[in-house]
Amino acid sequence: MEISFAGKRALVTGAGKGIGRATALALARCGAKVVAVTRTQADLNSLVQECASITPVCVDLADWEATEAALQDVGPIDLLVNNAGCAILKPFLEVTPDQFDQLFNVNVKAVLHVSQILARGMKARGSGGSIVNVSSQASQCAVRDHAVYCATKGALDMLTKVMALELGPYKIRVNSVNPTVVMTDMGRLGWSDPKKAQTMMSRIPLGQFAGHRVQRPAC
Ligand code: NAP
Repeated sequence: MEISFAGKRALVTGAGKGIGRATALALARCGAKVVAVTRTQADLNSLVQECASITPVCVDLADWEATEAALQDVGPIDLLVNNAGCAILKPFLEVTPDQFDQLFNVNVKAVLHVSQILARGMKARGSGGSIVNVSSQASQCAVRDHAVYCATKGALDMLTKVMALELGPYKIRVNSVNPTVVMTDMGRLGWSDPKKAQTMMSRIPLGQFAGHRVQRPAC
């Protein structure tokens, strides 16, 4: 299947590693002009080395004001992928307020904020757009030691629905994707233990996690 994003401008958050990086590169390969946002400059350097057409933006999305400043000059964006996310795995009884705030700040509040900034532009231009929020199966399914992570993704799913409701009239589509385990740095954090992984994998019809053997054509 041939997919073309020629003429579109896309912004991907958390584009330094894992799913976000792969998404940024895939969009660029499909012809989109991509803005890659993440908080580690070294990741952006290597990303631009891999694909010179990508525009890098380095910011910690948990910082509301810094995000506002960093995104003010990115120009018109047609496609937004809210992918940046983090996980801290703790038994429920050991979760601290800091950990709760850290996860909600990135996994939920930053999605709201980045979407507000870019959807205002989409609305003003009248050209519509598309927003994809990267949620998780953990929004629907209780996973041990993932209390706050699951709660952030549950909140993200409901945020997605209300965004779709309110932004639809401006021809802005809002959807979520809810992957199961993907073997990125985050995936390895939770699922490197073969015994634990087996329980999860036994419920996946293909019998493997996502992220295996990805062949990437040049950007
Ligand atoms: P990852 O490999 O850990 O990559 C996450 C990326 O987001 C990194 O580049 C990270 O930058 C960036 N990021 C995190 N916090 C940020 C912040 N405050 N400001 C800017 N950038 C930030 O994770 P992943 O597995 O690709 O996950 C991507 C998304 O998919 C997340 O929303 C995750 O919840 C979701 N998801 C993952 C899985 C899985 O099994 N991997 C399954 C379902 C859903 P630094 O490295 O510099 O912090």
